[in-house]
Amino acid sequence: MDEKQCLFCRIARGEIPSKKVYEDSESFAFLDINPRNPGHVLVIPKKHVVTITEASEEDVSSLAKALRRVAIAAQKATNADGLSILQNNGHAAGQIVAHLHFHVIPRFSSEGPPSLEAVLQVKKFDEESMNRIASLISENAKGIGETAKPNTEKTEKESAAEGKKEEISFEF
Ligand code: 5GP
Ligand code: ZN
Repeated sequence: MDEKQCLFCRIARGEIPSKKVYEDSESFAFLDINPRNPGHVLVIPKKHVVTITEASEEDVSSLAKALRRVAIAAQKATNADGLSILQNNGHAAGQIVAHLHFHVIPRFSSEGPPSLEAVLQVKKFDEESMNRIASLISENAKGIGETAKPNTEKTEKESAAEGKKEEISFEF
């Protein structure tokens, strides 16, 4: 979907109403229409980008600044005991709206189990698999950001590291 039709682009442009809580030159934040808790906010870049892996380092840096400000404000406003910050990339991860967004969700001690286990169960992997995935992620991290370009324009190191991703598969 292009930025003309995109729901969150339209919200950021004010074409679709939202309960805005924060705005700066690059970012926009508004209440989630289906709040998981009081003060559930979505923080988005004004620029249309779908996932964090498609965004440039500069885009993510400005968004992180807005995210921190909104997180502090949401926690103060709701007197929350904690905050969950979630961000889904792609259908497999539960992304419904195809415009990068961070969920800022105030959390309360009275809610019960606050852990990530409420979303994903712990899985056991053997030591060798854990070592292999750690080294593959570490290899793939090399070179990212050195060019300060979005990672769609890959560096040589990135392309080389990419070749290694086929080596591993996890069974669920
Ligand atoms: P996702 O699953 O993509 O990470 O989350 C999308 C979020 O966007 C959901 O929590 C949903 O409630 C919220 N949402 C979807 N449509 C609208 C809308 O039109 N306005 C607002 N404020 N939130 C929306
Ligand atoms: Zn968009």
